[in-house]
Amino acid sequence: MSKHFDAIIIGTGQAGSPLAGRLADAGMTVAIIERHKFGGTCVNTGCIPTKTLVASAYAAQIARRGDEYGFAVNGEVRVDMKRVKARKDKISGRSNKGVEERLRGLKNCTVIEGHARFQSSRTVMVNDDVLEADKIFINVGGRAAVPPIKGINDVPFLTNSSMMDVDFLPEHLVIVGGSYVGLEFAQMYRRFGSEVTIVEMGPRLIGREDEDVSAAVSDILETDGIRIRLNAKCISVAKHDGRIALGVECVGGPPEVLGTHVLLAVGRTPNTSDLGLDRAGVATDQRGYIIVDDQLQTSVAGIWALGDCNGKGAFTHTAYNDYEIVADNLLNEDRRRVSDRITAYALYIDPPLGRCGLTDAEVRKSGRAVLVAKYPMSRVSRAFEKGETQGFIKISVDAETKQILGAAILGTGGDEVVHVLLDVMYAKAPYTVVQRAMHIHPTVAEYLPTILSKLEPFA
Ligand SMILES: Cc1cc2nc3c(=O)[nH]c(=O)nc-3n(C[C@H](O)[C@H](O)[C@H](O)COP(=O)(O)OP(=O)(O)OC[C@H]3O[C@@H](n4cnc5c(N)ncnc54)[C@H](O)[C@@H]3O)c2cc1C
Repeated sequence: MSKHFDAIIIGTGQAGSPLAGRLADAGMTVAIIERHKFGGTCVNTGCIPTKTLVASAYAAQIARRGDEYGFAVNGEVRVDMKRVKARKDKISGRSNKGVEERLRGLKNCTVIEGHARFQSSRTVMVNDDVLEADKIFINVGGRAAVPPIKGINDVPFLTNSSMMDVDFLPEHLVIVGGSYVGLEFAQMYRRFGSEVTIVEMGPRLIGREDEDVSAAVSDILETDGIRIRLNAKCISVAKHDGRIALGVECVGGPPEVLGTHVLLAVGRTPNTSDLGLDRAGVATDQRGYIIVDDQLQTSVAGIWALGDCNGKGAFTHTAYNDYEIVADNLLNEDRRRVSDRITAYALYIDPPLGRCGLTDAEVRKSGRAVLVAKYPMSRVSRAFEKGETQGFIKISVDAETKQILGAAILGTGGDEVVHVLLDVMYAKAPYTVVQRAMHIHPTVAEYLPTILSKLEPFA
């Protein structure tokens, strides 16, 4: 006998949980299934705990710079990793508990703990129970990718998940992967007091960003004392006298980095291989991402895929936006689409990078006539008042339509300020709207009108 529901949701991540609330509120009977921790990656091993750690690292750094600000700290600033972890656990635990309590408190919603697997396109098996529904929503997220690095099975290594249990200071943390996750861990651990080396296969860090952004981010990290090894084409790991030796074929420097701990931060793998998708007939791409259309329906009618597992985004806000698209299409006949959204994200090093729209490379590829302006944070008064002058602001606009095409704001407050431009992009308004606005002094955002008055043809 199977139990029937109007909707089954697999996973309690950033799309599944709010969707459960919305569907249940609309009067549907909902079953939501979670195999591990309520709230998924963002709450337990992603955004919330890492940004909590970033906050501890920032505070330690400011304390070290006390002299510059006019205060003294008695003795060396030492970070107590047990207390840093306890603070992180408390904040992340509160969110995890909040998600569970909200779901359990929903009328019409049954919360089931266990691993869900499709039996057919309408049935899901969990803990020996068969659940049936006409509408099934997959929100299974992803996990850290573990590539077949030579020797990887012979050494202990960390991922973003196991890093959450670390309550000690690694003497020398070697991070494989110079992209968003790796860089955040690199800077926070350096500021906690570890030696840190980033090993990146490509010729520069965060290779998807513009070259000037990569270069400025490298400078920021190197100023903190982080070592960066690029062009590490052939990475291997091996035990070496109680340490871990990372073989790297880098340009310059010895071909080996000796560390005490290794963190793998080389991308994500969707949690789709153990879902029984073949039984449901749901198609995936070669990397295991579930193929969806512009409204997030899979290859099977009545099954949707939301969040990281559909490969359309890799952020909490993209997963949440997926939920809004699906819910509005289903419940409000509001034909929202994934292609309506504009790329936006942040890199939470200090200072942060806020990004929206196209990069220079994408602008170039688009073949449009483009105007661009760039302004150093060292000339932004709020930045020098705070003593945080690293980075720059760069904005590109379409010369004909005057619409903003993209921006990179690397600098204090960059993750917030970028929304001024993002909202104008959504409004499809010309950049002159921002240029003529009166902004508050002293803020980073007050410079946007000034910067937009300095637009020049894109070289
Ligand atoms: C270190 C790190 C830092 C990050 N920082 C940020 C940030 O600052 N900002 C940002 O926007 N994004 C950030 N992200 C990305 C963000 O965490 C993810 O994009 C987001 O959590 C994706 O949500 P989701 O709903 O797709 O899946 P998830 O949150 O991963 O949830 C999926 C859930 O499904 C469950 N599940 C999986 N398979 C099954 C099954 N078969 N049966 C039952 N349950 C199952 C899992 O246990 C999990 O709870 C970060 C990621 C990492 C790794």
